[in-house]
Amino acid sequence: MGRRKFIAGNWKMNTSRESAVQLARQLAAHLGRVEDVDIALCPPACYLLAVHEEIAGTRLALGAQNMHHEKSGAFTGEVSPVMLCDCHCTHVIIGHSERRQFFGEDDELVNRKIIAALSHNLNPIVCVGESLDQRESGKTMEVVGTQLRHALVGVRPEQLRDVTIAYEPIWAIGTGRVASPEQAEQVHAHLRSVLTSMYGADLSMVIRIQYGGSVKGDNAAGILAQPNVDGALVGGASLKAEEFIAIVLAGVPA
Ligand code: PEP
Repeated sequence: MGRRKFIAGNWKMNTSRESAVQLARQLAAHLGRVEDVDIALCPPACYLLAVHEEIAGTRLALGAQNMHHEKSGAFTGEVSPVMLCDCHCTHVIIGHSERRQFFGEDDELVNRKIIAALSHNLNPIVCVGESLDQRESGKTMEVVGTQLRHALVGVRPEQLRDVTIAYEPIWAIGTGRVASPEQAEQVHAHLRSVLTSMYGADLSMVIRIQYGGSVKGDNAAGILAQPNVDGALVGGASLKAEEFIAIVLAGVPA
């Protein structure tokens, strides 16, 4: 099918300037020339430039963890897409469950942010995922399908290629409880079928769908081997160079 794996590290609200630089330096040294996997680092906004300096000229891309949808204005504490581009970001995570859960982001806001990111040539990594309650009551497919459809309202077919979807079951994020490869594949296949119904089979086959939720060096290979799993969005394990390197290497085609 020819979809390259895409591994992104979401550092969340962790690291100091010194440890962020150190981590970026280690990753640049070990992964900076890896050709068969796409890789992005998403440090806290205040360290974007410092991390950029370490990874500039390597194959590592820079991503932000969130953004506002307006270009500028009276939005105290927010960071705009223009600012992210100015800091050399090429990617931005949108609609992470922590943003939805703790900062009240709903499907409509997530959609606005995606449209704004695309209009500034930022590649959004769009997160969807169900809670444990929703999974246990059999609503997973309905929940993620609805999130995906809302997220992509107004996204034109020619823009879709710049979008990555991240399936992140909330019950697996930061819990150490990883979805089984089969559970991940089931949902990814469903998400691809939703994309097919919206954009047609040809386009849906080129869109990458990452899995996120307690991915580590020792479970990455099984998940990444699934036909509809095109990479990983990694939280906790992306803060440890050796773990993140192992995850990336698990994504290198045999
Ligand atoms: C995440 O926050 O996107 C994530 C997947 O976290 P973790 O890998 O720690 O579960």
